[in-house]
Amino acid sequence: MPFVQASDITKRFNGTTALAGVDLTVERGESLALLGPSGCGKTTLLRVLAGLEVPDQGSVIVSGSTLADSTTFVPPERRRIGMVFQDWALFPHLTVARNVAFGLDKAEIGRGRISETLELVGLLHLADRYPDELSGGQAQRVALARALAPRPRVLLFDEPFSNLDTGLRTQVRADVAELMREVGMTSVFVTHDQEESFVVGDRVAVMHEGRIVQVGRPAEVYQYPVSPWVATFLGEANVLNGVANHRHVSTIVGHVPLADPVYGPCQVVIRPEHLTVGLGDKAVVSSVEFYGHDTSYELAVNGTTMLARVIAAPRFTPGDRVEVTYAGPNTVAFQTAAHQGP
Ligand code: ATP
Repeated sequence: MPFVQASDITKRFNGTTALAGVDLTVERGESLALLGPSGCGKTTLLRVLAGLEVPDQGSVIVSGSTLADSTTFVPPERRRIGMVFQDWALFPHLTVARNVAFGLDKAEIGRGRISETLELVGLLHLADRYPDELSGGQAQRVALARALAPRPRVLLFDEPFSNLDTGLRTQVRADVAELMREVGMTSVFVTHDQEESFVVGDRVAVMHEGRIVQVGRPAEVYQYPVSPWVATFLGEANVLNGVANHRHVSTIVGHVPLADPVYGPCQVVIRPEHLTVGLGDKAVVSSVEFYGHDTSYELAVNGTTMLARVIAAPRFTPGDRVEVTYAGPNTVAFQTAAHQGP
């Protein structure tokens, strides 16, 4: 049985259905990223796991014990589920050690739990400092130590990095994800940032309008999205029309290989980095953006607009005619009309 198992969770607020029958599992020691656009229900699901919301329907089971179902509701303080919010607020008038002591009972403090946890996050030497004497990254490590100190069974993170500026965010999120793996903590990270979900999540659960629409390892959901919506939500994607015959589709960028058999008219997902752009006559360059590490071309082919990303400085300028060809791995296509099959 999975360590965390939420089944058929439904939650409505007045007229709004925030969660519409969500099933979610998290394995012991796994870090799961819950990714979705604003308003899709991520925070509500986290709050249901924590016991801060009572679900209208469904059950939450952690480590074999039922925390919520139609007859049971274990209050948040008895769930041993920690929650870390956006601001990671530390108490400014308390030292690092006393911040970590918050929420610990005397016996645990007596057994040296404060130093043990500070050592875990590598900050034992800062135990007597005050929050305003810490760097942003150190403050977040202290907040993490405070969350880890009471030995939660699960840690829930609600957009934990969104208040940090870009440089610090990249560093802190890698740090936190590594630490969670090191200590084997079962965790759920809510984010609306695709890149972040791939960095922190062993698996990513993609949410849309109150439902989980796909769960998988980052490379899996990126390469094999279950719908055009998931494809475009997980990064840039061209969704082109084509005609499929078993494991390939003919499209305006040539033959594209498929992971699974599809037949007849379909929409095929093509990542911009899987298109090559060269000398030729098929497409017209409509715009060029140079990012340093790569170049993005917007191209028009017979009235269809598509993006191509090439690891090279720009070779073409708007108005140039070019060739564009598919040069990627097997991808996915979605049948658009009923077809008789092979
Ligand atoms: P964001 O990324 O913007 O935080 P989210 O995916 O976390 O969004 P939720 O906060 O879970 O989304 O909200 C899901 C839906 O439920 C939204 O339509 C929201 O307006 C609604 N909702 C959430 N909490 C309440 C509440 N207490 N009362 C009424 N409606 C609510």
